[in-house]
Amino acid sequence: MLLPSQIIQKKRDGHALTEEEIRFFLLGFTHAEIPDYQMAALAMAICFQGMNFDETMWLTRAMIDSGKVVEWKRAPGVFYADKHSTGGIGDKTSLILAPLVASCGVKVPMISGRGLGPTGGTLDKLESISGFRSNLSLAEFQRVTDEIGCCMIGATPEIAPADKKLYALRDVTATVSCLPLIVASIMSKKLAENVDGLVLDVKWGSGAFMRTREASLELGRAMVEVGKRYGKRVCALQTDMNQPLGQCIGNALEVRECIELMSGQAKADDLMEVTIALAAEMLMMAEAAKNVADAREILQKKLSSKEALKKFVEIIATQGGDAKVCDDTSRLPVASHKRVIAARASGFVHGIECDQIGYAVIALGGGRKVASDTIDFGVGFEAPKKIGDRVEAGEPLMVMHYNNEAHAAHAEAMVQRAYAIRPDPAVARPLLITERIG
Ligand code: URA
Repeated sequence: MLLPSQIIQKKRDGHALTEEEIRFFLLGFTHAEIPDYQMAALAMAICFQGMNFDETMWLTRAMIDSGKVVEWKRAPGVFYADKHSTGGIGDKTSLILAPLVASCGVKVPMISGRGLGPTGGTLDKLESISGFRSNLSLAEFQRVTDEIGCCMIGATPEIAPADKKLYALRDVTATVSCLPLIVASIMSKKLAENVDGLVLDVKWGSGAFMRTREASLELGRAMVEVGKRYGKRVCALQTDMNQPLGQCIGNALEVRECIELMSGQAKADDLMEVTIALAAEMLMMAEAAKNVADAREILQKKLSSKEALKKFVEIIATQGGDAKVCDDTSRLPVASHKRVIAARASGFVHGIECDQIGYAVIALGGGRKVASDTIDFGVGFEAPKKIGDRVEAGEPLMVMHYNNEAHAAHAEAMVQRAYAIRPDPAVARPLLITERIG
């Protein structure tokens, strides 16, 4: 067996590693037998030289084997499915999709993340509901999923611990944006969750991790292929993240938006389009629907009968949260002030630096600058102008919810800079879902 430094050198010089070498290195790192600096060097070598598909598979397998694989009861006719998004701004699809799909009889065990960079995290959103517990044990997670059909938690120490350690290292060594490392990181967690079906929302654009359609397509294809090799039903939808999804950005505001959508009090066509498309894939995987049209009809019925909302109430209550927020959204945290951010010029919205809107939420205190920061759940933005909209000078670009004037001034400047407004007409982005992979 090669020494760790020889394995690093082999990758540095552009050679493919063997399964044995990858496993030895990754598991050695997880058990602190290989130091961080050697793992960081290998990660950087992977960033420069890439990995072939076999290497990516072996890396994923080693990450899975660093922890436990969830064993479900697997009663006949029971199908477990999850969704993973590569993350976006105002992306709250999980909060609607999980109860909606569970209300159709598919089990939805969902392990979600916190905000990452400018993108928000499902867990932070859920924790804006007073009392909500996302830190259930793996055993509780399985029990709740089997009993009520859905459970939404954060990463547990048992699932892919190698990823947790490696991700923290990648975060501080500029090795996050590297395709094989991303594929192994995401897929190891989802495969250790051991669901039967997985739908991936691979976003691209100014508010996404992957800026171009090509890069996100490559990522989507690789993840789908890894999932299929593991015998899972998996597909990915590539979705446009060049502007915020829906009408709210910020933790409690997004929960409110989801409740209002599920109770029929609000409308957000873009958000529902993505949510329904992803949910339909899950129903088809589970053979709970014959085709897309059938799936859409089932999902619409569950929304209009409020069964999806009832399931959300059940999830919140079971996980210790204040489920009355679903009847009375004023129980959610609210910021003490709100004001309009007015357009400085008349014209059409040609583009939005969407990540800057995410960073503006962080500037308001709605996300973390360092891991130990506490979140101000009530702050954020509402009713953003979208690409193609006409706006007059002085009209709202969006409404800002805030608690601190200095933070608000900073965030407002960021929002102003994020909008490209020009006099010539701009076309609304026609296609939200740009590709289906799988
Ligand atoms: N999300 C993950 O879980 N891992 C990555 O590497 C990137 C995004």
